[in-house]
Amino acid sequence: MHIDGHSPLLTDLHCHSTASDGGLSPASVVARASENGVGVLALTDHDTIAGMGEAREAAVADGMHLVSGVELSCLWRGQTIHVVALDFDPDEPGFLQVLEGQESVRHQRAGTIDERLRKQGLPSVLEQARDLAAGVPGRPHFARALVDAGVVPGERQAFQRYLGTGKVGDVATCWPELAVVVGWIREAGGIPVLAHPRRYGLTNNKLRKLVQAFLDAGGQALEVLSAGHSPQDSGYLTRLCLDGGLWASGGSDFHWPERPWSELGRLPELPAGPDPVWRHFRRETQARLQGE
Ligand code: AMP
Ligand code: MN
Ligand code: MN
Ligand code: MN
Repeated sequence: MHIDGHSPLLTDLHCHSTASDGGLSPASVVARASENGVGVLALTDHDTIAGMGEAREAAVADGMHLVSGVELSCLWRGQTIHVVALDFDPDEPGFLQVLEGQESVRHQRAGTIDERLRKQGLPSVLEQARDLAAGVPGRPHFARALVDAGVVPGERQAFQRYLGTGKVGDVATCWPELAVVVGWIREAGGIPVLAHPRRYGLTNNKLRKLVQAFLDAGGQALEVLSAGHSPQDSGYLTRLCLDGGLWASGGSDFHWPERPWSELGRLPELPAGPDPVWRHFRRETQARLQGE
């Protein structure tokens, strides 16, 4: 996926570091992206921008453009949905407060996940999950901790049995509503992007309803390109963009080097039609991207 214009820049607008559930430090994510030829990157850790300072320093050293990003967890009709915020003002006090709120929700939620697992007769792994996380532990840290404790043979089984959608450790009700989160992002001058819309297991009909709710709340872009999206998925999402006047975004959703299906910068070109989201970045960001 390239930024068009005079100097095409390979662009990746969704990835994770150890600040959330990724395997590489923010600086290593930037270095790896740079090695892969990425020129514009958004680090979008789950509900935190704790990695942004380190990423920004590394980006300056590597001559890479870093766009502010975060992936916020929220609820729509009781289901967990992810909204990526791009190009917001990272110093906006209101938004920093929002992120503090999400962090405290995550702390409480970690306790609830542990409680629910213990009610199943499993040992407590909260402390181990905390040790595995640089910040607040999420479900992937619990999965790893359950493997280390010998409860399950692999993380896949941990999700299948205990942590995946609808399982006992899938604590979702704590998140704010989709419309609230979209409003927060707009107030911080950011662009709300509906993350990986084809990965929620929704029928076309229900996905259209989600996109309508996202639009009504002030949502502006869909992640047309994402790991796990087939060309058909991207084609369908392109149509949804055109129908709703939404912009198109794309990101690898990179977490770990060992998972080659979501390598940094490995994205096809955005399908023609909808406006690429980067055309709508703030003027100062545009200027940076064009080397002004
Ligand atoms: P959380 O933010 O704590 O709800 O954790 C969600 C994260 O867990 C996602 O962003 C993925 O990185 C990971 N995840 C979700 N479902 C699975 C799964 N079935 N197998 C492996 N990882 C998963
Ligand atoms: Mn994740
Ligand atoms: Mn996600
Ligand atoms: Mn993600």
